[in-house]
Order: sequence, then structure tokens, then C-alpha cells
Amino acid sequence: MALRTIVTLPDPVLRRKARPITKFEKNLQTLIDDMIETMREAPGVGLAAPQVGISDRLIVVEYGEDEEDENGEIIEGPKKLYVMINPEIVKFSEEKELGVEGCLSIPGLVGEVERHSTIQLKGLNRRGQPMKLKAEGWLARIFQHEVDHLNGVVFPDRATKVWKPSVDEEEDMV
Ligand code: ZN
Repeated sequence: MALRTIVTLPDPVLRRKARPITKFEKNLQTLIDDMIETMREAPGVGLAAPQVGISDRLIVVEYGEDEEDENGEIIEGPKKLYVMINPEIVKFSEEKELGVEGCLSIPGLVGEVERHSTIQLKGLNRRGQPMKLKAEGWLARIFQHEVDHLNGVVFPDRATKVWKPSVDEEEDMV
């Protein structure tokens, strides 16, 4: 495994519509493992292939939902890793929510973005087998952000406002 370089705006690969993946060979497996390592190192909770300069429809997401411990304190739950190839949002709730997003490809900027609260996705796993999943809240937001990357869309395109975060303002990066 190896770390890949995360590309940033205005790199044109971030504005391109990525190609569907049709071959599930060794190169793809290496890319997936490298993207997982790069996301963890960043650290981030999601990464799309165009963010490492590759215009293919592949995303990785790793996120732990917040949970309450026995004292009622909010803690980060166990992290779950998702690898999704050719992901497609097939259903989304009418209900939307606002949240603050940052992006590993747009350092030094965050924005308030409205996203669907609940979505359903379908796609392929790393072996090329069909997979489906439902996501809500932050996880749904991360997936919507990553699928946007595959279509050349970045969060400021959708944001109601963007700003430079202060030092104590920490966001999950995607
Ligand atoms: Zn991003």
C-alpha cells in the first residue's frame, strides 16, 4: 500500500465527470487500498478517486456514528468502512438538513451545505458484486459529498455560504 497525493482545486480532474469502472483487476485493488490508507492518513472520513487524480467512479468512506456511553456522553461509535464502485443515489428523502462541510481538496475553506437527510445507494463492491445501502444524517452527507466528486461537483457549488474556519473549528474532512 502507498499513500497517494490528494489533489486540490483548481486541478481540472476535480471538475471532470469520472468514468464508470468495468474492470476489477489488481490495479483497482491497489488503488482501493491506497485510497483507504490516504483517507486515514489525511485524516478524512471519505475520499473519491478524483481526489487522488484518478477520474474513476470509486469512493471510500469510513465513519463512526456518534453514540452515547453509559454516562450519557457523546462518543464516536465503531467506525465502518465502505468501498463503493459506480455508486448511484437511487432514493433520497424530501427532507433536507443543513450542515458544515470541509473538503480535503479545498484546504482552508468550509461551507454550509443542504443535503438530503436519508439516501439509498446502489453500486458495486470491490469484487464487482452488486451492493445497496441506506444512509442517514452525517453518513448520508458524506456519501452525497463523495458522489458529487465523481460528477465534478465540489461543496462550494452547493453551499449557502462558505468561510475560512477559525482554528478551533474542526470539521470532518471529505
Ligand atoms: Zn471533498
